[in-house]
This record gives sequence, C-alpha cells and structure tokens, in this order.
Amino acid sequence: MKNKLVGLNRAELELFAESIGEKRFRGRQLFSWIYAKHAASFEVMSDLGRELRRKLAEEAGLEWMTLEQRAASPESGSVKYLFRLEDGALIEAVYIPESGRRTLCISSQVGCALGCAFCATGALGFRRNLTTGEIADQVLQAARETGEMPTNIVFMGMGEPFLNYEAVTAAAGLINNPDGIAVGHRHIVISTVGITPAILRFADEGQPFRLAVSLHSAIDAKRRQIVPIAKRYPLPELLNAVKYYAKKARRRPTFEYVLLAGFNDGEEDADALRRLAAEVPCKVNLIPYNPALPGFERPDEASVTRFATWLSPLHAPVSIRWSKGTDINAACGQLAGREGRI
Ligand code: SF4
Repeated sequence: MKNKLVGLNRAELELFAESIGEKRFRGRQLFSWIYAKHAASFEVMSDLGRELRRKLAEEAGLEWMTLEQRAASPESGSVKYLFRLEDGALIEAVYIPESGRRTLCISSQVGCALGCAFCATGALGFRRNLTTGEIADQVLQAARETGEMPTNIVFMGMGEPFLNYEAVTAAAGLINNPDGIAVGHRHIVISTVGITPAILRFADEGQPFRLAVSLHSAIDAKRRQIVPIAKRYPLPELLNAVKYYAKKARRRPTFEYVLLAGFNDGEEDADALRRLAAEVPCKVNLIPYNPALPGFERPDEASVTRFATWLSPLHAPVSIRWSKGTDINAACGQLAGREGRI
C-alpha cells in the first residue's frame, strides 16, 4: 500500500521526504504542490526533478477518492459531487457559488449515527469516520474540478464533525494554512448538532474556526423528537456550552434552524428561539427545509417570512438561507441515498 500524501501537514511531509532519502525541504515543496497548486499527479511537480518524481510515483499516492458522479444545478450554479472512497464508501460535497463567495460544504463521516428525523444522511446509518486526508481531498478535488479554490468551507455535509473531532480539526488546520489551501479561519465553519463536551474542548483549545450549532427547535421536548442526541445533551446543557464557547472564544456562534412546516415554524417556536438566542451573542440562520424524507415539508415563503418577523425584536442578525439545488438532491445524504448505499 502506497503512502498517501494528502492529509499530511508540512512537518509530516518533511519527515516523509527524509524517509525516502530526500532532504526535508522536498517536503515543503510537496506541501505547496499538493495544497496550494492542488496537483493531481507527481508528474506536474516541475521543480522536483524527473528521478524524484518517478520515485514518488512508485512510493506514494495523492488522491483518496474518485469522482463517481457530478450533478450541476442550472437553477443555482451549485454542483454536487459524489465521491467513492477506496473501500467503496460514498460521500458527498456541495459547491455553492454565490455573491462573490465560493462555498464548499464537505463531509466528515460516511453516513451518520445520530439519526435526526428529517435528515437523509441519518437515514443511511453510520459506516465510519473520514480520515484527515479524505476530508482535505474533497476540497482539493473540488478545486481541480472548478478550477478555483473555495473561499469558504462549511463542515455541514454527511456526518457529525464533532464525533470525528481530531480528523476534522486537523483537516480544518490544513485548509486554513496560508501556504496551502489558504481559506481564512473566519471562513471555515464547523457545525455540530450539539455534542457539548466537544464544544467545550473546541473552546478550551482555542480553535480559531467558527462554530455553528444546529438547533432546529428551542423547545427541548420538541427538539428531542427530531434530534435524538438531544436526549443525551439537553438544551440547557447545550446552551451553557455555547455560552462558554462565546465567552472564551469571543466569537458569536451561529444557530442553524431548519424550518419544518407545521412542526417548528409556529409563533411559540419563534418565541422560544428568540428567548434562547437573547441569552448569548449569536447569529441565527433560518433554513427552509429541503425536502429529503417523507413526513416533513418545506414551509411556504410567507410562513418563513412570518417566522423571521416574530424573531425581529432579537438583537442578533437573522438570515434566511434557502438551500440551493433542490433539483440536484442537494440536501446532504440524498445523492448517496439514491445510490441505495454508503
Ligand atoms: S443532521 Fe447532521 S447530525 Fe443529524 S443525522 Fe444528519 S448528518 Fe447526522
């Protein structure tokens, strides 16, 4: 089995260079070719010399996955990628170009064990965590495919990022490295459904990336109905962890709120959200549901606007994010689910 270089940081690439009898600075050259220039092969690494390129091709590999399917939305310009990993597992990433930004939504696990009631990925079950290399490779492959590095990265694809904490934070570090992919730390968002010990750890470690918390209801009993992990980490405990993070990191977390018609889009739901959001400096993102599973519907535009109006006394920015690409199964897990497996 060849050494895979995507996922290694600069120090690790220097060690790798030494391990094949080369000088350490070769590791730094590899770092630049892999992450800044998103090279797909050793052949293009023109400053490495033919003999070294041949040795690298023999001893090492770059890509962790192959592009299985690509679905572009003529409606929004979004592109959904379905990748096949070396063990046959399928994961998804979504590229979303909008208003000067190029956002890539990436996966952190194959499937997800948390089974949120409205989520296509949750319905697929859990297979395994992704490695740092598999996470970073989604970014590099999408960059090659689109011809440009993304400007923003969101860990909102398949899986719960904080249940794969080490690989996710290591990959975020690689994505952030200014000599590599160079996405600014404020433009990297890690989204959790509420794994409170990991939120505390994230704060204590001083991780520079932004935190988003998928709330979906500010009424604990209701939240438990759609987010089963809320039974383990109830709302008061989650809110305390978010407050701790906001204070320690001196950053506003974002509360993500998927609006499900007739379930969490009523006035009492808005009241509860307004009260909760008033307790911590934050932003609120309302996301009208992108229908993925039977039993839940997207509210109409008037209901979404009304819900936002009910929140309006809130001193926090509220935005409405219509999910892009309903025509390409852009909700996470939908494309892999359509393949009938992960
Ligand atoms: S919403 Fe997120 S945490 Fe919940 S099942 Fe889907 S991927 Fe997992």
